[in-house]
Amino acid sequence: MKKVYLDNASTTAIHPDVVSEMTRVLTEEYGNPSSTHYLGRSSRNLIELSRKSIAKNLHCAAQEIIFTSCGTEANNFIIQSSIKDLGVERIITSKIEHHAVLHTIEILKKQYSIEVDYVTILPSGEIDVVHLTDLLSTKAKTLVSLMHVNNEIGTILNLERVSKICKQHQAYFHTDTVQSIGKTSVNLEQIPIDFLVASAHKFHGPKGIGFAFIRKGIVLNPILLGGEQEKGLRAGTECVHNIVGMAKALELAYESLIEEQKQITFLKEYAISQLEQHIPGIKFNGNPNQTFYNLLNFILPFSDDKTAMILFNLDMKGIAVSRGSACQSGSTKPSHVLAEILSEEDLRKPSLRISFSHYNTTDDIDYFIENLKLV
Ligand code: PLP
Repeated sequence: MKKVYLDNASTTAIHPDVVSEMTRVLTEEYGNPSSTHYLGRSSRNLIELSRKSIAKNLHCAAQEIIFTSCGTEANNFIIQSSIKDLGVERIITSKIEHHAVLHTIEILKKQYSIEVDYVTILPSGEIDVVHLTDLLSTKAKTLVSLMHVNNEIGTILNLERVSKICKQHQAYFHTDTVQSIGKTSVNLEQIPIDFLVASAHKFHGPKGIGFAFIRKGIVLNPILLGGEQEKGLRAGTECVHNIVGMAKALELAYESLIEEQKQITFLKEYAISQLEQHIPGIKFNGNPNQTFYNLLNFILPFSDDKTAMILFNLDMKGIAVSRGSACQSGSTKPSHVLAEILSEEDLRKPSLRISFSHYNTTDDIDYFIENLKLV
């Protein structure tokens, strides 16, 4: 059966060169990086070379990169520790953040009785920066936590603008860049972000590894206690093959960034035009010409009887896509992101998210649309 993978915002296929590098490390470099003998030193060396490589790609210092098990852990670590260690009394965030941020903040609000403010979301799905500035005008030690690229609708936060506003108001700025690192360049020398978070499986690296960037001079304590790994900030024997795999994947992603951006942008434009042509009445969630270049989210003008089986029927044809809202996979819970921007009526209709990588072709899009028409 033909297989078409259009769910790259969920996870990506691992790059073959990453697999080779990781296989070599798994086979030969089994020393514990904390051991002082030659095998341990060799593993340590690989970790530090990986850290340097990641830092170089983001224009920051190697000691500002802390390895974690995933993006979720890095988000939890930064948000929790900033309340415990930096005296943060208030968090400004949005209702369209990933649950790794939203749920963490909800729990911390109860535990530490901090204030939480949600910045207004514009109908386009973008953050209302004017409202953010208003919120920041009250004096309280604040952490602003806003994602760079939204994983459901692909809206983009202007990191330069928001980080500067945060600096002007002496607020810490944390951004979840899980959907953007490896897909767009982020220069941490030029943009005054305090914390950011990434995850390797979103840029053709392995699952189970991510990192936190913590700006030099900001002192946090760990949430995982134990050994002295990661300068005491994240206990646990380092996952050497995953760290090496992540650094390799990021290197490859940034080496071919311009080329892949062009190719994927072309695919997205092709998908928009074909969808408009073949599915009359389709409505895009967010402005498709302004959302991130690898992602499209849309409402299908399908009747209720078709709605329930969309994902199942596409799956039967070997097509992997994601739901953009409830109703398609047995869940009755609407997407918390779409709930912020859609009317009750549109929220009840089926939304789909398709997300591309450089492995996709226009044939994939044709096959998807052909089968979408048959649903
Ligand atoms: N943040 C965003 C925006 C994401 O899209 C994801 C993954 O879907 C995460 C955080 C969680 O990352 P991980 O899967 O590495 O825990």
